[in-house]
Amino acid sequence: MQPFRYTRAADTNAAVNAVTSNMRAKFIAGGTNILDLMKEGVETPTELVDISRLNLTQIWATANGISIGALAKNVDTANHPLIRRDYPLLTQAILAGASAQIRNMATNGGNLMQQTRCSYFYDISMPCNKREAGSGCGALEGFNRNHSIFDWDTNCADVHPSDMCVALAALEATVNVQGTDGKTRVIPFVEFFRPAADMVMSDTTLRHGELITSIDLARSSFAGNSHYLKIRDRASYAFALVSVAAALELSGGQIKQVRLAMGGVARKPWRAFEAEKALMGKAATEENFRAAADAEMKHARPLEHNKFKVELARRAIVLALKRASHPTAV
Ligand SMILES: Cc1cc2nc3c(=O)[nH]c(=O)nc-3n(C[C@H](O)[C@H](O)[C@H](O)COP(=O)(O)OP(=O)(O)OC[C@H]3O[C@@H](n4cnc5c(N)ncnc54)[C@H](O)[C@@H]3O)c2cc1C
Ligand code: SF4
Repeated sequence: MQPFRYTRAADTNAAVNAVTSNMRAKFIAGGTNILDLMKEGVETPTELVDISRLNLTQIWATANGISIGALAKNVDTANHPLIRRDYPLLTQAILAGASAQIRNMATNGGNLMQQTRCSYFYDISMPCNKREAGSGCGALEGFNRNHSIFDWDTNCADVHPSDMCVALAALEATVNVQGTDGKTRVIPFVEFFRPAADMVMSDTTLRHGELITSIDLARSSFAGNSHYLKIRDRASYAFALVSVAAALELSGGQIKQVRLAMGGVARKPWRAFEAEKALMGKAATEENFRAAADAEMKHARPLEHNKFKVELARRAIVLALKRASHPTAV
């Protein structure tokens, strides 16, 4: 591991200033991702600014929903009574990720900012445009079973690994960020991740030094009827091959509102807008769920080793919608 300076920020201003003034400084929160990347030589910051003791751990009801501190632990977020009651999709998604030990350390801000799990990215002997721009992409010519089926390009075809982010995409969260000018920036979730063609060295629209302070969820008419479905190679401690977050508002069996997002299929949490469009105003029947899944999946562009994901995702959309229309308590 490369030597690095460790500092602990006393407040959010100090944290932002410390990282902004050093292009090779990084925040460390729970450390469950950044430390692994440093041990593998993938990340080589010259300074780690510890934000774990900042006062950003609260989860509180707002006039219009809930606000979740960036430094609240994943476990505390998943098990918060208001989140269990009003946003069960988020509880399900967080509890489907990682392991109990990791969820006890991992923070919400770190979850949003976690890096890809592409094995070529982690192996510094392999080419990877994401780690070293212009070096090539090991996965496109190599083993790409776990990679994208939507919106990849010839630079990179990784997938975003977070489960929590798939639920946040469906729930249309907004992310509050303290900017380098000290002001707060509010980023709608759909704008938090860059379009694939613009990702080059950064997945998100955060600028160097900007600090996520909290995540807001508005009250909604669809969050109650929801389901998170994660399909993976083993029952725990594995990232999604495909996941689906589905949330519906039904009225007399008709779909009044629907939000669908997918994980394991694209370089960012993938909002299934085509499927949503196909479902609006329709009866909540399996036949209509299938038609919506077809509408989304006809745009898929699988790679050599992940063609199976297209049918897997199609079936996952149908099953998640069926379960969302008949939710059970988490
Ligand atoms: C074995 C293993 C299995 C896992 N399985 C899953 C899984 O199935 N599903 C899943 O979703 N996740 C999974 N994870 C990932 C885990 O959820 C993340 O590692 C964790 O959420 C990162 O949070 P952290 O606080 O530890 O971040 P850190 O490691 O401290 O930081 C990660 C990145 O976020 C940046 N950062 C942290 N906080 C902020 C902030 N407030 N503002 C701006 N930048 C910030 C850091 O600079 C760093 O770049 C797994 C991890 C491991 C190790
Ligand atoms: S898919 Fe992306 S992360 Fe993986 S090797 Fe290619 S450029 Fe790197």
